[in-house]
Amino acid sequence: MVKQKRVFSSLGFIGALLLGSLFASVTACKTPEGEHGKPELTETVVIDEITPPSPVELKGVKAEDPASVPAFDLALSSQQVPDGALLLLTIHPLTELNLEKVKVKFEGEEFPTFKLKPDGSDLGALVAVPFNSKPRKTQVDFSWEEGKLKKSAAIPLEVIDGKYKSEALKVDEKKVTPPKKTMARIKREQAQIGALYRTITPEKMWSGAFSFPLPTELTSPFGTKRIYNGHMNGFHQGLDFRARTPLPIAAPENARVAMAQDLYFTGNTVILDHGYGLYTIYGHMSSLGVKVGDRVKKGQILGLSGASGRATGPHLHWGAVLMKQKFNPLDLKRVLR
Ligand SMILES: [Zn+2]
Repeated sequence: MVKQKRVFSSLGFIGALLLGSLFASVTACKTPEGEHGKPELTETVVIDEITPPSPVELKGVKAEDPASVPAFDLALSSQQVPDGALLLLTIHPLTELNLEKVKVKFEGEEFPTFKLKPDGSDLGALVAVPFNSKPRKTQVDFSWEEGKLKKSAAIPLEVIDGKYKSEALKVDEKKVTPPKKTMARIKREQAQIGALYRTITPEKMWSGAFSFPLPTELTSPFGTKRIYNGHMNGFHQGLDFRARTPLPIAAPENARVAMAQDLYFTGNTVILDHGYGLYTIYGHMSSLGVKVGDRVKKGQILGLSGASGRATGPHLHWGAVLMKQKFNPLDLKRVLR
């Protein structure tokens, strides 16, 4: 597989959004000051963009019970991932089994299984590793039923430190509380988005690895932590793409439009539902070209990039969510099949 590299540029984070703890779960991002005509690029970070992960393959998986017969071949997309990563478990049944009884859990959280290909018997399950969770040796839990017997197996996984950068910010405590009217709007929008992410559409709409929504340079990576007055109050929940002038944003995979509206933080925002708890987010757009309920095909234009909402300059913010957990959108290219 071809190893591509992209250059991320990041700068001293000065003109930050002044967000308090109330905003911790809200998408906030910055743009290079260069987009306002000021100097940019004080630092350049090179990040491997599409490094193929080394999968762990478990052939002839059977239950711990020694009398058990091999029931599945399993493959986890990687044996070692940073916090904030996405994983794909591929499940190949070896015998006639009730595949509706197959369950995939990670640290107590259940992740839905789906048919990988409409005509095949293989199942898949996406798993998100929580951002900012500690390095540890852990496992993905897999269970199924044979007749009346409940069986299980574990796939080992190591979570390593994502080594995300931190930005320490000192802000006037008084400035972190927005006006009451604004708070009501923020809370309403958070509730609306929260309800959306709890909705699991039982349809796999994507057909393979995602493409990027813009062909431009990435200007801010996923996961940069914001430390306000010594407390971590948020992190960059997506990737930023350079877009000084309005650029057409292309759907990276097939989906249904779950939201297309103006939000306080991310401005004109499109949220795509790709099915089975997988959502992607497009923020700060100057115009929306789709509406809720629309079916969009890979490559279809969602609207134009911009600087709406709480953006410090024009750019595209691209986020990704699985089962309410934000993960690094680059994994949509690395992991999905
Ligand atoms: Zn952003």
